[in-house]
Amino acid sequence: MTALSLEPILNRALAGADITEAEGVILLLQTEPAALAVIQATADQLRQRQVGDTVTYVLNRNINFTNICEQHCSFCAFRRDAGQAGAYWLDEAAILQKTAEAVEVGATEICMQGGLNPQAQIDHSSLAYYLKIVRAIKSSFPQLHLHAFSPQEVEFIARQDGLSYAEVILALQAAGVNSMPGTAAEVLDDSVRQILCPEKISSAIWLEIVETAHRLEMPTTSTMLSGHIETPQQQMRHLGKLRDLQQQRHPAQFSEFILLPFVGQDAPKPLRRRVGRDQPVLSDALRLMAVARIFLGNWIVNHQPSWVKLGLEGAATALNWGCNDIGGTLMEEHITSMAGAQGGTCQTAADLQAAIVSVGRLTQQRDTLYRPIPLMQQISA
Ligand code: SF4
Repeated sequence: MTALSLEPILNRALAGADITEAEGVILLLQTEPAALAVIQATADQLRQRQVGDTVTYVLNRNINFTNICEQHCSFCAFRRDAGQAGAYWLDEAAILQKTAEAVEVGATEICMQGGLNPQAQIDHSSLAYYLKIVRAIKSSFPQLHLHAFSPQEVEFIARQDGLSYAEVILALQAAGVNSMPGTAAEVLDDSVRQILCPEKISSAIWLEIVETAHRLEMPTTSTMLSGHIETPQQQMRHLGKLRDLQQQRHPAQFSEFILLPFVGQDAPKPLRRRVGRDQPVLSDALRLMAVARIFLGNWIVNHQPSWVKLGLEGAATALNWGCNDIGGTLMEEHITSMAGAQGGTCQTAADLQAAIVSVGRLTQQRDTLYRPIPLMQQISA
C-alpha cells in the first residue's frame, strides 16, 4: 500500500476513532519509508494530543528476589533450579538493604518480581512468604509504592495454597502491594505461548487475573513481548484484548503500555535459532510502538519503550514514535540482561533526563501511577 492509501485509516484515528485490529495489521505490514513516515507522524500527533509533550520517568529499583523457578520458558536465561550454579534467593535483610539504597537516592517505587520458587511454601503457605516480604518493606518504608508480583506469580501463589485469585490479590493489597506489573503477558495467543512459555498461564487466565485486580482496585501495567515468532495478526489480537479490558472501565485500570522487544542473545538455544537473531530490530519496535499508540491511545494514554531492551538511544528514538514515558532508573535488572540485552541495567535520573532532552522534549519525574512528583519532593539522584 502507498502512504496515500493509508490515509483513510490514519485520518479516522486522527479524528478520534478507534481503528480495528485488521487496520492495525495493515499498518504493521508497511515497510516503505513514505508509509512509515505517515504512520510515525500520526502516532506522534496523537501522542501530543492525548498526553502532551512532556516525557515522564520514574525513580525506581527493580528487585528480582529469586531466580529459582519451576518453569522453563523458552526465552528465559534468568531461571535456575534450586542448587544449580548461579541460583539465588534473597533473604529479607538483603531485600531491605536494596530497598534502603533505593530510598537513599530518591526512589519512589520498588518493582519486585521473581521466579516461581516452590520453596516459597516453606511454612506450608506461599502467600505467607510473599506477605512477609511485602510487610517487611512496607513497615520500614511505608511511603514507597510497591509494584509487585505478576499475574503469573498470583496464579502460582493461588495454586500452591488452594486460594482464589481474588483472595491472593486482596491479601497482597492489604499487606501493602500498590500495583501489579502486567508482565507474563508475552503475547496473548495460546499457540504462541505453547512455544514461548508452555507452562505459563493461558491468555484467558492472564486476562482473568488482571481483570480481577482491576475490579479490586489494584492497577496494573500492560506489556507485550514482541519480535520473536508472533505474527502481526497476533500482535494486534494482543493489543485488542488489552483495549477490550480497558474499555470495561473497572475501578482500576492499565496505567501504561510497555513494549518489550525480544532479546535472545543468551536465551536458551531453540527459540533463538528459530527467531534467527539476538538483538531487537529497532525499526520493527518503532513501527509497533507507533501502531500501539494509534490503536490503544484513546484508552491507554501512557506508552513506554524499554531502554533495557532497546538501549537508551533506541528508547529515546521511540519518543518520536508515539511514546511519552522513558521508564524507570531500575538500578538493577537481571531478567533481560541475563538474556544478553545490551541496554544496561541501571540509569540515573540524569541519564533519563538527558535522553529525553536529546529529542527536544521536556522532562517530568512521576510516580508509578503517573502523578507528577513536585520539584520540592524530588531528591536529585
Ligand atoms: S520467564 Fe519467569 S516464569 Fe518463565 S522460566 Fe523465567 S523466571 Fe520462570
